This record gives sequence, C-alpha cells and structure tokens, in this order.
Amino acid sequence: MASLFKIPLTRLNGIGPKKAQQFYKLGVCTVGDLIRLYPRTYEDWSCPVSIADTRDNVTCCIKATVVSVSAPVRIRANMLLFKLTVSDGEDGMTVTFFNQVYTYEKLKNGGDFLFYGCVKHSGYGYEMVSPEVLSVDEMAIHPIYARTAGLTTRQIENAVKQALKMLPATVNDPIPATIRRQFGLCPLDFALQNIHFPESEQALLTARQRLVFEELLILQLGMARLKGGRLETASHKLATDYREEFWKLLPFAPTTAQKRAVAECLHDMMTASYPMNRLIQGDVGSGKTAVAAAVCYSAVKNGLQCAFMAPTEILAEQHYNSLTELFANTEVRVGLLTGSMRISQKRHVQERLQSGMIDIVIGTHALLSENVQFRQLGLIVTDEQHRFGVAQRAALIAKGSHPHIMVMSATPIPRTLALMIFGDLDLSVLDERPPGRQKVDTFLIDSTKRERAYGFLKKQIDSGRQCYIVCPLVEQDEETALLSAEEYDGLLAQSVLKDCRRAVLHGKLRAAEKESIMHAFAKGTIDILIATTVIEVGVDVPNSTVMMIENAERFGLSQLHQLRGRVGRGAYKSYCIMVSDIQKESSLERLRVMCRTNDGFVIADEDLRLRGPGDFFGSRQHGLPELKIAELSSVTSLERTQEAARRILDADPSLSLKEHRGLLFETKRLFAAAGATQRLQ
Ligand code: ADP
Ligand code: MG
Repeated sequence: MASLFKIPLTRLNGIGPKKAQQFYKLGVCTVGDLIRLYPRTYEDWSCPVSIADTRDNVTCCIKATVVSVSAPVRIRANMLLFKLTVSDGEDGMTVTFFNQVYTYEKLKNGGDFLFYGCVKHSGYGYEMVSPEVLSVDEMAIHPIYARTAGLTTRQIENAVKQALKMLPATVNDPIPATIRRQFGLCPLDFALQNIHFPESEQALLTARQRLVFEELLILQLGMARLKGGRLETASHKLATDYREEFWKLLPFAPTTAQKRAVAECLHDMMTASYPMNRLIQGDVGSGKTAVAAAVCYSAVKNGLQCAFMAPTEILAEQHYNSLTELFANTEVRVGLLTGSMRISQKRHVQERLQSGMIDIVIGTHALLSENVQFRQLGLIVTDEQHRFGVAQRAALIAKGSHPHIMVMSATPIPRTLALMIFGDLDLSVLDERPPGRQKVDTFLIDSTKRERAYGFLKKQIDSGRQCYIVCPLVEQDEETALLSAEEYDGLLAQSVLKDCRRAVLHGKLRAAEKESIMHAFAKGTIDILIATTVIEVGVDVPNSTVMMIENAERFGLSQLHQLRGRVGRGAYKSYCIMVSDIQKESSLERLRVMCRTNDGFVIADEDLRLRGPGDFFGSRQHGLPELKIAELSSVTSLERTQEAARRILDADPSLSLKEHRGLLFETKRLFAAAGATQRLQ
C-alpha cells in the first residue's frame, strides 16, 4: 500500500488539477491519502422502511416507485419547484424539490428509487422535502466525508471507490500477523474496504476497531522512538546535590511527592547521558513551585543559570516574589523580565543575565527575545506548559547548550494517556496535597437558585472576600462572548450584588488590559471578577473564596477542576457553585463528579471514562500529530495498544526487522504532518 502514497490523485477519473486542489484542502494529495481519509459518519441506505413505518420528523430511507412528476414551476426569480408522487405499493408520499434540475432529469421518466430524508406526517399525508435520491442498486451503508468548499461527499465517495480498486491483491499490512492474531484484529484490506463501504454494522465495527488500534499503536511507537532518539549529550551534569540544604529554606516540610519529584529530576541531571526532559504533573495546589525552586537551587549551586517561564506577567511576578523571599538569605540572585518593564529596566536585567550576575530569571515571553543572552543557561522551567508552543520552548533551548528542561503542568491527565501524549518527556507526578489543605465545597444548582447564590456571594464579599463568576463563551464568536460577559454584568447590576466592585475580563481585551484587571483583583480592589475562561491560568489570589460557574455543562471536567482550583488557596473556607439547567443524565453525572471529589487525577480518570480520550488528544496544544479516528476509541483499546507497543519494542526497539517495516513507514508518515520527521529519521 506504501506505493499508493506516490500516486497523484489526478490519476483517478474525474479528478483534474482543479478538483485535486480541493482535495489538498482535506490533506489528501495521493491515492494513499484518499484511502486513509476516513468517513466522518455514515448513512444507512441498506434497509429501506415502508412509508407507513416512518416516524414524523425522523430521517430515513424509503424505496419507492415514482408515480407522477409535475413539471418544474418557477416560483421565484431563481427558484424552480417540482413535485413527485411516489408509492411503495401500500402508501403514497409527496416529494418536493427545489432547483434540482439534474434530479428532475433523473426522475421524470419514473422508475424505482431510494429516497433519503426527513419525513413529515400531516393531515395531507406523508411528505419529504429535498431528499437525496439514489438508484436502487445503491442500497448500502454510505460513507459521509468531512466536506470542503467545492467537494460533495458523493464526489469523495466516488473517488474513494476508484482508489480502493487500486489496492494490490494482497495489501501489505503494517501490523504483523502475530500481533493481529493476539489482539483479534482484522486485516488491513478488510478494514479499509469496510471503513468506507461497510458490508454491515458488524463489519464496520470490526474495521473501525482495527484502524483505531493501528492509529494508536503507531502513535505510541512514534513517541517511543522520539524518546529513544535523544542524541544530544548532557553538557551540564550536576556534580553535587543540594536538596537537603534547600529543604531547610522552606517554611514547611516538603510532601513525600515533592521529595520524590525533586529526587527524580536531580537523578536525571546528575546521571543521565542526555539532558533532563521531564514533565511534572501535579494538581493545582500540589506545590509545583517548590519543586521547581528546589531543582533550580541545586542547578545554581552547581554554577548554572536557570530560566523560569510563566504564561502571564502576573504569574511571573508571583513566582518572582516567592522565590526572592525564599532565597533572601542565600547567595542565589533572582531577576524578573517581563514585556511591560521599561526598556532601561529590561536592559539592566539583560546585562546582569549575560554577565552571570542573575542566577534565576523569571519571565514571560519576553525571555524569548533576541536580546536575552545567558552566560551559562543550564535549566529551563516552563510553568503551565500547554500555553507554550513547541517552537517557543525551542527558542529558549537555543539560548543554552543542551539545557535541562522541566515542564510543569497543572492539568492532571490519566497516566495511560500522559505516557502517550507527552511521550518524549519523562514523567513525575505530584499525587499528594500539602497537609491542611481544605476541600472546596462544591454545589450544583439550577438557575432558579441563582438569586440565592448571589446572596451567598454578597455575604462573602461583605466579610472581605472576593469571588469569580465564569460565563462560558456562548459561541465561538468573540463578538457574542463580549456581549455575554458584559450583559451578564448588566444583570448583576440589578441584583443584590449591584454595589460590589465588579470587572469583566474577556478575550477581546488587550493583554495589558487583562493584566491590569488581574492586578486590581489580586490587590483586592475588585470584589467580583466576571470572566470567560481566561482565568484558567494559575493566578493565586488567596483571598478569593467563591467560584461560580454559569452553564457549567459547557465545560469539560478538567476545565471545571482548573477553575475550581482558583479558590481555596488561602486560609478561608472556599466554595464552588456550578449553575446548570441541563437535564441530560450524562451531563449531570459529569457535574456530580465535581461535587464528589477534589482530586484532579480522579476527575481526569472519570473524564476519560465518560468521554473517551478524544478530548485529551484534540483540545490541547501538545504538538501531537492529528489522529483521524482514535477519538472514537475507548480506554480499553488504549491499554491494549500500549501492550502491543511494548511487545513490539521489546523485540525490536528500532523497528528494523522486516515485519516491522510497515509500522516504521506509517510512524514516519504520521509524524511527518506534525513536523517531527527529522527527529524520527
Ligand atoms: P501549584 O502546584 O498549583 O503551582 P503552588 O506551588 O502554587 O502550587 O503551591 C500552592 C501553595 O502551597 C503555596 O502557597 C505553597 O507555598 C504551598 N505549599 C507548597 N508545598 C507545601 C508543603 N509541602 N506544605 C505546605 N504548604 C505547601
Ligand atoms: Mg503553579
């Protein structure tokens, strides 16, 4: 099948250079790509129902004979209308079409056809408007492809039909027969035929299972090879470990999890033959900053400089303040570099960095600027990793010579997934909270209780606390978002909260405006912060005690958990109030998980169980190759592919055996799209 990736689409009938352009937009350049363009969904034309068995307003397929056809009538300047009467032998139905001259030509002489559309029942009988029409020999399950301008799903279907005919008699299957047997997978040619043109529901299921398995397997093999392919040599091995000295600086005793994470990092930095490349995953409030500080401390004591990158100015300042305080009585010199600093201030910091007079610099994207040079950059820490693109991390890495890298993420991800998603990073997990942390009490209410909730917020504010209210984007559309957050504020202006100091934070604001609102909130001059999800980043305002979330059903569980993590950061008892009028049991089940537990890892597991891994792959920017089909998969298939990947790699870590040639090819193909090819050669 590999050779089909060399055959251009224009080889197919009906595809000239112009049509080919439209296919490129779908990422399809070759016949091989086309075969691997899986349908988005299907229409079942295989079992037509009788007209009497249809249900009102439900889409179905009917096989019927054309009894009469009215001549097209012009009802408006550019609108023609014609009607049919059809019969299935028992009942009749009226079918109306607009402007479909081609369909008229097809139907005007009568005959038997399949009609696929929504049936309406009324006093006048049965009716379908603008159904799709196919001839009776096309009674089958039809694929529906993602559409693009200028290409209909039927055109894609026809092209795929031709492409499948070009498959060789025996298709080389990238998955070795032994693995197929062990995991009960069908062969590739069966899978490809049936994912496009399923013989039956069961055949479709079998095909899909196999293709999901293949995709996940290839992803994992690719990730494993990325990890195994680390060739750079460590140029900054640490000679001495200063962690005991560091623990004495902390105003509290480290948790076991913190100690373990620091030990893992220092182990990497002292012994590994390549630079550390480690992800620290910990729930909000699990104390990641202290872990980073501990590792920085040992690096600095070994003569290295550290760069600590935060996603926002306010977070950078918070880290700067806490590290300055922590290292006050040591020789460690801490600096801050953000975009809004005056040029002269920035220059001062840059000079001191270059001459080695600053040991740890904390900053925002400003750290990426060309003017920022280090004397001896040995460690890079990025906080809230998903905010930084791979390219940005690379820019920072280039400022040192093979620096160690530590990535901190506050989004708990189930371990099975984390191993895949962050395949080229080693993983440390902070699965423990510092002692004395209070649980955030969480409630689910419907909108009839909103006024009472406002009363509760008012009481908290009267006793000196602050609150967040989050309204989700009504639509993707920024214009609407702006209206909705501000309209919401308008509602508050007429409630018991009318005299509270409020501010609205939304995506339309400039970065500087956002920062200034966040500053005011952190200083306590704002009582209620009304926001879309922008507050997701880990701001630390210990005085805030209530997180109220409107239309909570619109958020994913991990997002809700992140939002809740904004409160309960100080000494005060804190609350999360989710408002939702949703009736759907599955949505309610999700929201109830939030009320039941405060543990981010439990929540992530539940999220995975309830929604499958699609969201974990899809919605985050981790530079993963895009998966075509795996979003349909389940946790079990994930675990099974991990098992298969392990077996294959144990036997053949570099995929150099003949039977693994197909897997190697597919791995390269998948990662080519993600721009990781050079690393995979
Ligand atoms: P996050 O993992 O969300 O970044 P932080 O590093 O901001 O968490 O820590 C949250 C709070 O917990 C901070 O105020 C920090 O000082 C405190 N903290 C961290 N580790 C401990 C510990 N071992 N014992 C007590 N408090 C701790
Ligand atoms: Mg943090």
